[in-house]
Amino acid sequence: MLRKVLFASSEVFPLVKTGGLADVAGSLPRALCALRQDVRIILPAYPEVIDNMGPTRCMARLDMPQGKVRILMGDLPGSSVKVWLVDFPALFTRAGNPYMGPDGQPWSDNAARFDLFCRVIVEIAMRRTSLKWKPDIIHCNDWQTGLVPALLSLEEQAPPTVFTIHNMAYQGLFPHANFVELDLPDSLWSHDGLEFHGQLSFIKGGLVYADKITTVSPTYAKEIQTQEFGYGLEGLLQHRSASLSGIVNGIDTDVWNTETDPLILEPYSVRNVEYKQLNKKALQQSSALRKDDVALAGFIGRLVYQKGIDIILEAIDDIMQLPIQLIFLGSGEEDYQQALLRFAKKYPGRIAVTIGYNEAFAHRIEAGSDLFLMPSRFEPCGLNQMYSLHYGTLPVVRKVGGLADTVVNTDADTLANGEANGFVFSGDRPSDLVQTLGHALKYYNEDLVWKKLQITAMWRDFSWDHSAREYIQLYDQLH
Ligand code: ADP
Repeated sequence: MLRKVLFASSEVFPLVKTGGLADVAGSLPRALCALRQDVRIILPAYPEVIDNMGPTRCMARLDMPQGKVRILMGDLPGSSVKVWLVDFPALFTRAGNPYMGPDGQPWSDNAARFDLFCRVIVEIAMRRTSLKWKPDIIHCNDWQTGLVPALLSLEEQAPPTVFTIHNMAYQGLFPHANFVELDLPDSLWSHDGLEFHGQLSFIKGGLVYADKITTVSPTYAKEIQTQEFGYGLEGLLQHRSASLSGIVNGIDTDVWNTETDPLILEPYSVRNVEYKQLNKKALQQSSALRKDDVALAGFIGRLVYQKGIDIILEAIDDIMQLPIQLIFLGSGEEDYQQALLRFAKKYPGRIAVTIGYNEAFAHRIEAGSDLFLMPSRFEPCGLNQMYSLHYGTLPVVRKVGGLADTVVNTDADTLANGEANGFVFSGDRPSDLVQTLGHALKYYNEDLVWKKLQITAMWRDFSWDHSAREYIQLYDQLH
Protein backbone atom coordinates (compact mmCIF):
# COMPACT_ATOMS: atom_id res chain seq x y z
CA MET A 1 0.00 0.00 0.00
CA LEU A 2 1.35 3.42 -0.93
CA ARG A 3 1.53 5.56 2.13
CA LYS A 4 2.79 9.07 2.79
CA VAL A 5 5.30 9.20 5.63
CA LEU A 6 6.77 12.44 6.97
CA PHE A 7 10.14 11.46 8.45
CA ALA A 8 11.33 14.04 10.97
CA SER A 9 14.92 14.16 12.15
CA SER A 10 17.26 16.93 13.25
CA GLU A 11 20.13 15.40 11.28
CA VAL A 12 20.32 13.49 8.02
CA PHE A 13 23.40 12.06 6.29
CA PRO A 14 24.95 13.41 4.02
CA LEU A 15 23.43 16.80 4.80
CA VAL A 16 24.46 17.08 8.45
CA LYS A 17 25.70 14.44 10.89
CA THR A 18 26.73 14.30 14.52
CA GLY A 19 25.89 10.62 15.17
CA GLY A 20 24.11 7.45 14.16
CA LEU A 21 20.72 9.18 13.91
CA ALA A 22 21.93 10.90 10.74
CA ASP A 23 22.87 7.56 9.16
CA VAL A 24 19.44 6.12 9.84
CA ALA A 25 17.66 9.26 8.64
CA GLY A 26 19.69 9.22 5.42
CA SER A 27 19.18 5.52 4.71
CA LEU A 28 15.79 4.38 5.98
CA PRO A 29 13.71 6.88 3.93
CA ARG A 30 15.52 5.72 0.78
CA ALA A 31 14.85 2.08 1.59
CA LEU A 32 11.20 2.87 2.31
CA CYS A 33 10.90 4.71 -1.01
CA ALA A 34 12.40 1.70 -2.78
CA LEU A 35 9.55 -0.31 -1.25
CA ARG A 36 6.98 2.07 -2.75
CA GLN A 37 6.39 4.23 0.28
CA ASP A 38 6.07 7.95 -0.37
CA VAL A 39 8.48 9.46 2.16
CA ARG A 40 9.49 13.05 2.78
CA ILE A 41 12.25 13.97 5.18
CA ILE A 42 11.95 17.14 7.23
CA LEU A 43 14.82 18.83 9.08
CA PRO A 44 15.94 22.33 10.05
CA ALA A 45 17.71 24.37 7.34
CA TYR A 46 21.09 24.59 9.05
CA PRO A 47 23.71 26.39 6.89
CA GLU A 48 25.61 23.13 6.38
CA VAL A 49 22.46 21.50 5.08
CA ILE A 50 21.83 24.29 2.57
CA ASP A 51 25.47 24.03 1.42
CA ASN A 52 25.23 20.26 0.94
CA MET A 53 21.83 20.18 -0.60
CA GLY A 54 21.97 21.46 -4.18
CA PRO A 55 19.10 23.53 -5.54
CA THR A 56 16.03 24.07 -3.38
CA ARG A 57 12.79 25.93 -3.93
CA CYS A 58 10.32 27.50 -1.56
CA MET A 59 7.17 25.38 -1.31
CA ALA A 60 5.28 27.22 1.43
CA ARG A 61 5.42 30.10 3.89
CA LEU A 62 3.99 29.69 7.37
CA ASP A 63 3.02 32.48 9.74
CA MET A 64 4.11 31.16 13.10
CA PRO A 65 3.95 33.18 16.36
CA GLN A 66 7.78 33.20 16.24
CA GLY A 67 7.78 34.75 12.74
CA LYS A 68 7.65 33.70 9.12
CA VAL A 69 8.96 30.24 8.29
CA ARG A 70 9.74 29.04 4.78
CA ILE A 71 9.57 25.39 3.75
CA LEU A 72 12.26 24.72 1.15
CA MET A 73 12.34 21.53 -0.90
CA GLY A 74 15.21 19.72 -2.56
CA ASP A 75 16.52 16.20 -3.14
CA LEU A 76 18.51 14.11 -0.71
CA PRO A 77 21.93 14.02 -2.46
CA GLY A 78 22.38 10.87 -4.50
CA SER A 79 18.70 9.95 -4.41
CA SER A 80 15.29 11.17 -5.46
CA VAL A 81 13.93 11.30 -1.90
CA LYS A 82 12.43 14.73 -1.28
CA VAL A 83 13.65 16.76 1.66
CA TRP A 84 11.79 19.65 3.28
CA LEU A 85 13.85 22.19 5.15
CA VAL A 86 12.40 24.35 7.90
CA ASP A 87 13.98 27.71 7.14
CA PHE A 88 14.00 30.12 10.07
CA PRO A 89 17.37 31.89 10.12
CA ALA A 90 16.99 33.46 13.57
CA LEU A 91 17.09 29.97 15.12
CA PHE A 92 18.90 27.77 12.60
CA THR A 93 21.44 29.88 10.68
CA ARG A 94 24.45 29.64 12.97
CA ALA A 95 28.02 28.34 13.00
CA GLY A 96 28.56 25.18 15.01
CA ASN A 97 26.63 21.93 14.91
CA PRO A 98 22.85 21.43 15.24
CA TYR A 99 22.99 21.46 19.03
CA MET A 100 26.00 23.49 20.11
CA GLY A 101 28.10 26.47 19.19
CA PRO A 102 31.74 26.42 18.07
CA ASP A 103 32.68 26.71 21.78
CA GLY A 104 31.16 23.27 22.45
CA GLN A 105 28.36 24.70 24.61
CA PRO A 106 24.74 23.79 23.83
CA TRP A 107 22.76 26.68 22.34
CA SER A 108 20.93 28.40 25.21
CA ASP A 109 17.73 28.50 23.16
CA ASN A 110 17.67 24.83 22.11
CA ALA A 111 14.21 24.40 23.64
CA ALA A 112 12.88 27.23 21.45
CA ARG A 113 14.71 25.95 18.38
CA PHE A 114 13.27 22.44 18.51
CA ASP A 115 9.89 23.68 19.73
CA LEU A 116 9.62 25.64 16.48
CA PHE A 117 10.77 22.63 14.45
CA CYS A 118 8.07 20.50 16.12
CA ARG A 119 5.34 23.08 15.72
CA VAL A 120 6.03 23.41 12.01
CA ILE A 121 5.75 19.62 11.68
CA VAL A 122 2.43 19.77 13.54
CA GLU A 123 1.12 22.43 11.11
CA ILE A 124 2.07 20.20 8.18
CA ALA A 125 0.60 17.11 9.86
CA MET A 126 -2.67 18.95 10.49
CA ARG A 127 -2.80 20.15 6.87
CA ARG A 128 -2.78 23.79 7.87
CA THR A 129 -0.20 24.80 5.27
CA SER A 130 -0.42 25.34 1.53
CA LEU A 131 1.69 22.21 0.90
CA LYS A 132 -0.10 19.79 -1.41
CA TRP A 133 1.55 16.65 -0.03
CA LYS A 134 -0.26 15.54 3.14
CA PRO A 135 1.27 12.87 5.39
CA ASP A 136 -0.59 9.76 6.56
CA ILE A 137 2.00 9.00 9.26
CA ILE A 138 4.51 11.14 11.12
CA HIS A 139 7.71 9.26 11.96
CA CYS A 140 9.61 11.18 14.65
CA ASN A 141 13.18 10.54 15.77
CA ASP A 142 14.80 11.37 19.11
CA TRP A 143 14.03 14.19 21.52
CA GLN A 144 14.30 17.00 19.00
CA THR A 145 10.97 15.83 17.55
CA GLY A 146 9.39 14.78 20.86
CA LEU A 147 6.89 17.62 21.07
CA VAL A 148 5.23 16.50 17.82
CA PRO A 149 3.29 13.52 19.28
CA ALA A 150 2.51 15.60 22.41
CA LEU A 151 1.03 18.52 20.46
CA LEU A 152 -0.77 16.22 18.01
CA SER A 153 -2.42 14.45 20.96
CA LEU A 154 -4.38 17.66 21.51
CA GLU A 155 -5.67 17.86 17.92
CA GLU A 156 -8.75 16.26 16.39
CA GLN A 157 -8.08 13.73 13.63
CA ALA A 158 -4.33 13.96 13.80
CA PRO A 159 -2.32 11.44 11.77
CA PRO A 160 -0.74 8.60 13.79
CA THR A 161 2.82 8.92 15.03
CA VAL A 162 5.83 6.66 15.40
CA PHE A 163 8.64 7.77 17.71
CA THR A 164 12.06 6.13 17.33
CA ILE A 165 14.62 6.27 20.14
CA HIS A 166 18.19 6.18 18.84
CA ASN A 167 19.81 6.69 22.26
CA MET A 168 18.04 7.06 25.60
CA ALA A 169 21.01 8.99 26.96
CA TYR A 170 19.82 12.14 25.18
CA GLN A 171 16.47 13.37 26.44
CA GLY A 172 16.14 17.09 25.76
CA LEU A 173 15.69 18.27 29.36
CA PHE A 174 15.05 21.97 30.00
CA PRO A 175 13.95 24.13 32.95
CA HIS A 176 10.24 24.55 33.64
CA ALA A 177 10.64 28.23 32.69
CA ASN A 178 11.10 27.10 29.08
CA PHE A 179 7.75 25.32 29.18
CA VAL A 180 6.13 28.61 30.17
CA GLU A 181 8.10 30.71 27.67
CA LEU A 182 7.24 28.37 24.83
CA ASP A 183 3.57 28.73 25.72
CA LEU A 184 3.09 24.97 25.66
CA PRO A 185 -0.45 23.91 26.64
CA ASP A 186 -0.87 23.59 30.42
CA SER A 187 -2.54 20.22 30.01
CA LEU A 188 0.83 18.79 28.90
CA TRP A 189 2.50 19.70 32.19
CA SER A 190 2.10 16.71 34.43
CA HIS A 191 3.90 13.63 35.58
CA ASP A 192 1.95 11.76 32.89
CA GLY A 193 2.94 14.37 30.32
CA LEU A 194 6.09 16.34 29.60
CA GLU A 195 7.24 16.87 33.18
CA PHE A 196 10.25 14.92 34.39
CA HIS A 197 11.22 15.73 37.98
CA GLY A 198 10.22 19.36 37.58
CA GLN A 199 11.86 19.75 34.19
CA LEU A 200 10.49 19.87 30.66
CA SER A 201 11.38 16.61 28.88
CA PHE A 202 11.14 16.62 25.10
CA ILE A 203 11.70 12.87 24.83
CA LYS A 204 8.68 12.23 27.05
CA GLY A 205 6.53 13.85 24.38
CA GLY A 206 7.42 10.90 22.17
CA LEU A 207 7.37 8.24 24.87
CA VAL A 208 4.02 9.25 26.36
CA TYR A 209 2.05 10.29 23.29
CA ALA A 210 3.33 8.47 20.18
CA ASP A 211 1.10 5.67 18.89
CA LYS A 212 4.11 3.40 18.44
CA ILE A 213 7.56 3.64 19.96
CA THR A 214 10.50 1.90 18.41
CA THR A 215 14.15 1.67 19.18
CA VAL A 216 17.04 0.40 17.15
CA SER A 217 17.27 -3.19 18.41
CA PRO A 218 14.93 -5.63 20.19
CA THR A 219 17.35 -6.10 23.10
CA TYR A 220 17.70 -2.34 23.63
CA ALA A 221 13.87 -2.14 23.61
CA LYS A 222 13.90 -4.52 26.60
CA GLU A 223 16.92 -2.94 28.30
CA ILE A 224 15.45 0.57 28.40
CA GLN A 225 12.61 -0.84 30.48
CA THR A 226 15.14 -1.52 33.25
CA GLN A 227 16.76 0.81 35.75
CA GLU A 228 20.23 0.19 34.36
CA PHE A 229 19.45 1.58 30.89
CA GLY A 230 16.21 3.56 31.34
CA TYR A 231 17.58 6.83 32.79
CA GLY A 232 14.56 7.12 35.07
CA LEU A 233 12.08 6.54 32.25
CA GLU A 234 11.98 2.74 32.66
CA GLY A 235 8.61 2.86 34.44
CA LEU A 236 7.01 4.82 31.62
CA LEU A 237 8.53 2.49 29.05
CA GLN A 238 7.24 -0.55 30.92
CA HIS A 239 3.81 1.06 30.89
CA ARG A 240 4.10 1.53 27.11
CA SER A 241 5.66 -1.85 26.46
CA ALA A 242 2.76 -3.09 24.33
CA SER A 243 3.52 -0.27 21.88
CA LEU A 244 7.31 -0.54 22.08
CA SER A 245 9.42 -2.66 19.75
CA GLY A 246 12.95 -2.85 18.40
CA ILE A 247 14.07 -2.88 14.77
CA VAL A 248 17.77 -3.31 14.05
CA ASN A 249 19.27 -0.69 11.75
CA GLY A 250 20.62 -1.68 8.36
CA ILE A 251 24.02 -0.82 6.94
CA ASP A 252 24.82 0.84 3.64
CA THR A 253 25.81 -2.18 1.59
CA ASP A 254 26.95 0.02 -1.30
CA VAL A 255 29.56 1.66 0.90
CA TRP A 256 30.36 -1.49 2.91
CA ASN A 257 30.81 -4.17 0.28
CA THR A 258 33.87 -6.44 0.24
CA GLU A 259 33.57 -7.05 -3.49
CA THR A 260 33.44 -3.41 -4.59
CA ASP A 261 35.03 -1.42 -1.75
CA PRO A 262 37.51 0.93 -3.46
CA LEU A 263 39.17 1.69 -0.13
CA ILE A 264 40.55 -1.82 0.41
CA LEU A 265 43.47 -3.47 -1.33
CA GLU A 266 41.97 -6.77 -2.38
CA PRO A 267 38.27 -7.48 -2.98
CA TYR A 268 36.90 -10.72 -1.53
CA SER A 269 33.63 -12.49 -0.92
CA VAL A 270 32.21 -15.66 0.62
CA ARG A 271 33.59 -17.52 -2.41
CA ASN A 272 37.20 -16.52 -1.66
CA VAL A 273 37.45 -15.37 1.95
CA GLU A 274 41.10 -16.35 1.90
CA TYR A 275 41.84 -13.15 -0.08
CA LYS A 276 41.10 -11.32 3.15
CA GLN A 277 44.62 -12.39 4.16
CA LEU A 278 46.06 -10.03 1.55
CA ASN A 279 44.24 -7.15 3.20
CA LYS A 280 45.60 -8.28 6.55
CA LYS A 281 49.19 -8.34 5.29
CA ALA A 282 48.78 -4.87 3.79
CA LEU A 283 47.30 -3.55 7.02
CA GLN A 284 50.11 -5.03 9.09
CA GLN A 285 52.67 -3.55 6.74
CA SER A 286 51.18 -0.05 6.66
CA SER A 287 50.68 0.00 10.44
CA ALA A 288 54.16 -1.24 11.37
CA LEU A 289 52.76 -4.46 12.83
CA ARG A 290 54.88 -7.59 12.57
CA LYS A 291 53.86 -9.80 9.68
CA ASP A 292 53.19 -12.65 12.09
CA ASP A 293 50.51 -15.18 11.42
CA VAL A 294 48.69 -14.40 14.65
CA ALA A 295 45.12 -13.12 14.90
CA LEU A 296 44.72 -9.39 14.39
CA ALA A 297 41.95 -7.72 16.40
CA GLY A 298 40.68 -4.26 15.42
CA PHE A 299 38.86 -1.52 17.30
CA ILE A 300 37.24 1.50 15.62
CA GLY A 301 35.14 3.98 17.49
CA ARG A 302 34.69 6.85 19.84
CA LEU A 303 37.06 6.57 22.79
CA VAL A 304 34.42 6.98 25.46
CA TYR A 305 33.21 4.97 28.44
CA GLN A 306 30.14 3.73 26.50
CA LYS A 307 32.38 1.78 24.14
CA GLY A 308 34.09 -0.13 26.97
CA ILE A 309 37.49 1.23 26.01
CA ASP A 310 38.44 1.21 29.70
CA ILE A 311 37.78 -2.54 29.80
CA ILE A 312 40.16 -3.03 26.88
CA LEU A 313 42.81 -0.77 28.40
CA GLU A 314 42.75 -2.63 31.70
CA ALA A 315 42.97 -5.94 29.88
CA ILE A 316 45.74 -5.07 27.42
CA ASP A 317 48.70 -6.41 29.36
CA ASP A 318 46.92 -9.75 29.77
CA ILE A 319 45.77 -9.74 26.15
CA MET A 320 49.41 -9.33 25.15
CA GLN A 321 50.12 -12.69 26.79
CA LEU A 322 48.05 -14.23 23.98
CA PRO A 323 49.27 -14.72 20.41
CA ILE A 324 47.45 -11.65 19.05
CA GLN A 325 47.97 -8.19 17.60
CA LEU A 326 45.75 -5.15 18.19
CA ILE A 327 44.96 -2.21 15.95
CA PHE A 328 43.02 0.84 17.15
CA LEU A 329 41.45 3.77 15.32
CA GLY A 330 39.51 6.28 17.32
CA SER A 331 39.29 9.61 19.01
CA GLY A 332 37.64 10.83 22.16
CA GLU A 333 38.68 11.40 25.73
CA GLU A 334 42.25 12.53 26.14
CA ASP A 335 43.09 10.05 28.90
CA TYR A 336 42.03 7.10 26.76
CA GLN A 337 43.95 8.44 23.76
CA GLN A 338 47.13 8.84 25.81
CA ALA A 339 46.78 5.41 27.41
CA LEU A 340 46.44 3.76 24.01
CA LEU A 341 49.47 5.59 22.66
CA ARG A 342 51.48 4.44 25.68
CA PHE A 343 50.55 0.81 24.97
CA ALA A 344 51.55 1.21 21.32
CA LYS A 345 55.00 2.27 22.55
CA LYS A 346 55.17 -0.53 25.09
CA TYR A 347 54.32 -3.23 22.52
CA PRO A 348 55.90 -2.11 19.24
CA GLY A 349 54.98 -4.31 16.29
CA ARG A 350 52.07 -5.79 18.22
CA ILE A 351 49.82 -2.82 18.95
CA ALA A 352 49.13 -0.05 16.44
CA VAL A 353 47.18 3.06 17.42
CA THR A 354 45.85 5.86 15.23
CA ILE A 355 44.10 8.74 16.94
CA GLY A 356 41.64 10.55 14.70
CA TYR A 357 38.69 9.98 12.43
CA ASN A 358 39.51 8.28 9.15
CA GLU A 359 36.82 6.66 7.05
CA ALA A 360 39.21 5.02 4.56
CA PHE A 361 41.37 3.54 7.31
CA ALA A 362 38.24 2.20 9.02
CA HIS A 363 37.50 0.20 5.86
CA ARG A 364 41.03 -1.18 5.74
CA ILE A 365 40.87 -2.22 9.38
CA GLU A 366 37.55 -4.00 8.83
CA ALA A 367 38.92 -5.78 5.77
CA GLY A 368 42.29 -6.68 7.31
CA SER A 369 41.37 -7.75 10.83
CA ASP A 370 40.39 -11.24 11.97
CA LEU A 371 38.51 -10.09 15.06
CA PHE A 372 36.75 -6.87 16.03
CA LEU A 373 36.61 -5.65 19.64
CA MET A 374 33.38 -3.97 20.75
CA PRO A 375 32.89 -4.50 24.50
CA SER A 376 30.35 -1.66 24.81
CA ARG A 377 28.64 -0.98 28.14
CA PHE A 378 25.49 -0.12 26.24
CA GLU A 379 24.82 -0.10 22.52
CA PRO A 380 21.37 0.84 21.17
CA CYS A 381 22.20 -0.83 17.84
CA GLY A 382 25.84 -0.38 16.83
CA LEU A 383 27.13 -0.28 13.30
CA ASN A 384 30.68 -1.44 13.59
CA GLN A 385 29.81 -5.00 14.58
CA MET A 386 27.59 -5.22 11.50
CA TYR A 387 30.34 -3.87 9.22
CA SER A 388 32.64 -6.43 10.81
CA LEU A 389 30.29 -9.37 10.27
CA HIS A 390 29.76 -8.26 6.69
CA TYR A 391 33.55 -8.20 6.22
CA GLY A 392 34.09 -11.63 7.78
CA THR A 393 35.79 -10.04 10.79
CA LEU A 394 34.38 -11.85 13.79
CA PRO A 395 33.13 -9.49 16.51
CA VAL A 396 33.99 -9.90 20.18
CA VAL A 397 31.17 -8.08 21.97
CA ARG A 398 29.39 -7.60 25.27
CA LYS A 399 25.90 -9.00 25.38
CA VAL A 400 24.04 -5.69 25.25
CA GLY A 401 21.61 -3.95 22.90
CA GLY A 402 22.13 -4.43 19.19
CA LEU A 403 25.32 -6.40 19.83
CA ALA A 404 23.28 -9.13 21.52
CA ASP A 405 20.85 -9.15 18.58
CA THR A 406 23.41 -9.43 15.81
CA VAL A 407 26.31 -11.48 17.17
CA VAL A 408 25.84 -15.16 18.06
CA ASN A 409 28.44 -16.62 20.42
CA THR A 410 30.42 -19.57 19.13
CA ASP A 411 30.03 -22.83 21.03
CA ALA A 412 29.44 -26.44 20.10
CA ASP A 413 25.68 -25.91 19.68
CA THR A 414 25.76 -22.72 17.62
CA LEU A 415 28.53 -24.15 15.48
CA ALA A 416 26.45 -27.24 14.86
CA ASN A 417 23.30 -25.32 13.97
CA GLY A 418 25.21 -22.90 11.78
CA GLU A 419 24.36 -19.73 13.72
CA ALA A 420 27.72 -18.93 15.31
CA ASN A 421 29.27 -15.74 13.93
CA GLY A 422 31.34 -14.21 16.75
CA PHE A 423 32.11 -14.16 20.45
CA VAL A 424 29.84 -12.76 23.17
CA PHE A 425 30.43 -12.19 26.87
CA SER A 426 28.29 -10.79 29.65
CA GLY A 427 30.54 -9.44 32.39
CA ASP A 428 32.38 -6.14 32.40
CA ARG A 429 35.65 -7.20 33.96
CA PRO A 430 38.86 -7.08 31.94
CA SER A 431 39.28 -10.82 32.64
CA ASP A 432 35.94 -11.50 30.89
CA LEU A 433 37.34 -9.95 27.73
CA VAL A 434 40.68 -11.76 28.03
CA GLN A 435 38.96 -15.10 28.51
CA THR A 436 36.67 -14.51 25.55
CA LEU A 437 39.62 -13.64 23.35
CA GLY A 438 41.37 -16.81 24.50
CA HIS A 439 38.24 -18.76 23.58
CA ALA A 440 38.15 -17.07 20.13
CA LEU A 441 41.80 -17.89 19.44
CA LYS A 442 41.12 -21.61 19.86
CA TYR A 443 38.81 -21.42 16.90
CA TYR A 444 41.22 -19.18 15.00
CA ASN A 445 43.64 -22.08 14.88
CA GLU A 446 41.12 -24.35 13.19
CA ASP A 447 41.07 -23.12 9.62
CA LEU A 448 37.90 -24.83 8.48
CA VAL A 449 35.87 -23.83 11.52
CA TRP A 450 37.08 -20.25 11.24
CA LYS A 451 36.11 -20.12 7.59
CA LYS A 452 32.66 -21.44 8.42
CA LEU A 453 32.24 -18.71 11.05
CA GLN A 454 33.34 -16.06 8.58
CA ILE A 455 30.94 -17.25 5.92
CA THR A 456 28.03 -17.37 8.38
CA ALA A 457 28.87 -13.80 9.40
CA MET A 458 29.10 -12.57 5.81
CA TRP A 459 25.85 -14.24 4.75
CA ARG A 460 23.65 -12.43 7.22
CA ASP A 461 21.34 -9.85 5.65
CA PHE A 462 22.06 -6.39 7.11
CA SER A 463 20.48 -4.47 4.26
CA TRP A 464 18.17 -1.54 4.91
CA ASP A 465 15.63 -3.32 2.75
CA HIS A 466 15.20 -5.89 5.51
CA SER A 467 14.75 -3.26 8.25
CA ALA A 468 12.50 -1.06 6.12
CA ARG A 469 10.10 -3.98 5.66
CA GLU A 470 9.80 -4.22 9.43
CA TYR A 471 8.98 -0.51 9.65
CA ILE A 472 6.32 -0.96 6.98
CA GLN A 473 4.76 -3.76 9.01
CA LEU A 474 4.64 -1.36 11.92
CA TYR A 475 3.08 1.39 9.80
CA ASP A 476 0.49 -1.20 8.70
CA GLN A 477 -0.64 -1.52 12.29
CA LEU A 478 -1.42 2.19 12.39
CA HIS A 479 -4.00 2.21 9.64
P1 ADP B 1 28.27 5.29 17.69
O1 ADP B 1 27.20 5.80 16.76
O2 ADP B 1 27.80 5.07 19.10
O3 ADP B 1 29.54 6.09 17.64
P2 ADP B 1 28.32 2.96 15.94
O4 ADP B 1 29.09 1.69 15.92
O5 ADP B 1 26.84 2.82 15.86
O6 ADP B 1 28.72 3.81 17.22
O7 ADP B 1 28.76 3.84 14.73
C1 ADP B 1 30.02 4.44 14.66
C2 ADP B 1 30.28 4.90 13.24
O8 ADP B 1 31.35 5.83 13.22
C3 ADP B 1 30.71 3.80 12.37
O9 ADP B 1 30.34 4.12 11.05
C4 ADP B 1 32.24 3.82 12.55
O10 ADP B 1 32.93 3.17 11.53
C5 ADP B 1 32.48 5.25 12.57
N1 ADP B 1 33.66 5.67 13.31
C6 ADP B 1 33.75 5.91 14.64
N2 ADP B 1 34.98 6.36 14.95
C7 ADP B 1 35.67 6.40 13.81
C8 ADP B 1 37.00 6.79 13.47
N3 ADP B 1 37.86 7.22 14.39
N4 ADP B 1 37.37 6.73 12.18
C9 ADP B 1 36.50 6.29 11.25
N5 ADP B 1 35.23 5.91 11.50
C10 ADP B 1 34.83 5.96 12.76
